[in-house]
Amino acid sequence: MPKKTIHQLDVDGRRVFIRVDFNVPIRDGIIADDTRIRAALPTLTYALEHGATVVLGSHLGRPKGTVNQAFTLRPVATRLAELLGRGVVLATDAVGDAVAAAVSAAGPGGVVLLENLRFHPGEEANDPAFAEALAAPADCYVNDAFGSAHRAHASTTGIVHHLPDAAAGLLMAAELRHLGALLESPPRPFVAILGGAKVSGKLEVIDNLLGQVDTLLVGGAMAYTFFKARGLPVGRSLVEAALVDATRTIERDAGGRGVRLELPSDHVVTDRLEVGAAHETLAVEDPSIGDRLGVDIGPATIARYAAVIADARTIVWNGPMGVFEIDAFAPGTVAIAKAVAASAAISIVGGGDSVAAIGRAGVGDRITHISTGGGASLEFLGGRRLPGVEALPDVVEGRC
Ligand code: ADP
Ligand code: MG
Repeated sequence: MPKKTIHQLDVDGRRVFIRVDFNVPIRDGIIADDTRIRAALPTLTYALEHGATVVLGSHLGRPKGTVNQAFTLRPVATRLAELLGRGVVLATDAVGDAVAAAVSAAGPGGVVLLENLRFHPGEEANDPAFAEALAAPADCYVNDAFGSAHRAHASTTGIVHHLPDAAAGLLMAAELRHLGALLESPPRPFVAILGGAKVSGKLEVIDNLLGQVDTLLVGGAMAYTFFKARGLPVGRSLVEAALVDATRTIERDAGGRGVRLELPSDHVVTDRLEVGAAHETLAVEDPSIGDRLGVDIGPATIARYAAVIADARTIVWNGPMGVFEIDAFAPGTVAIAKAVAASAAISIVGGGDSVAAIGRAGVGDRITHISTGGGASLEFLGGRRLPGVEALPDVVEGRC
């Protein structure tokens, strides 16, 4: 059932709480990539042009429920003001009197950005009292944070109980349209490429994906938890010890469902995660890895994966194949990006770092859909319902 969108919400003269995903990479106070801020602009501009007072809520990083200025949204407020061409007030907190005062002072056409939602433990705990406090300064609610929709947090689900006049933002709606169409009947072969560092989060979604895809190509740090389970030498590579058993279950399930699960056969190993560090390519069985760590897929793996990608008709990619931030360890990720771009398949790439890798390979315009969600897009494509989407009202027949 399609969800109501902001186009079907009366925002004129009202205070609209918009949950956005401004979880951007920040290094030394500088925003390294503002894609996620830009992606929210259509919704923000729509609300402002239709006379709303806009109250924005987002998390940034993982401050784990305490105030930590390393995770302030101040750099985001500055960048957003530049992009919108109008003032943005950064509230000193996400809830309370300071917010209420800032919102009344802002008035129609004004923008108030709340301070990091995750400074409060109630956000991730989906605490009803925190959700109520978040809702207090607003009249209606819009969720445009597709990248956070797989989490049932106060700002993505709890708040809707207090602001039932709610809708999806334009970015959220576009993501659901693109991914929903694909989920219905993906052209086959359907190939998923998974890598990156957030092993724990992704191993959980693999199970869902196994029900949808024909082939799963695994790279990046994730591969080492599988290698560990297979008794291969992993040195100091990133292994999630608690999930070694889970990879055995995944391999068994893949076999049972007739899904091809491919792991790297060769890799690049180094002794240091640094520019200029010595490195060499080894077969994954080679014990001479010693106490070094694996940082990229090797040329034999690239060739094998590229052949699978060339034959695919649907491709979903999340997670770089190596530590692509360092040039010497980027070739695997760049080669896979180029293979995906060259393939005739419908391609969907999601995840902050994966999208950055696509940009780095210069192939962004040859990807069918670049998703702002990493985990969210994987869970959605695995057939799971996203709590942040489920919480929104369905579209009302005859109103658009
Ligand atoms: P995304 O943001 O696309 O969802 P992740 O955040 O899960 O992806 O993973 C990206 C990170 O994974 C990158 O910073 C990259 O350096 C890291 N990474 C990839 N392969 C390895 C590896 N073999 N060892 C350590 N880190 C890796
Ligand atoms: Mg990332």
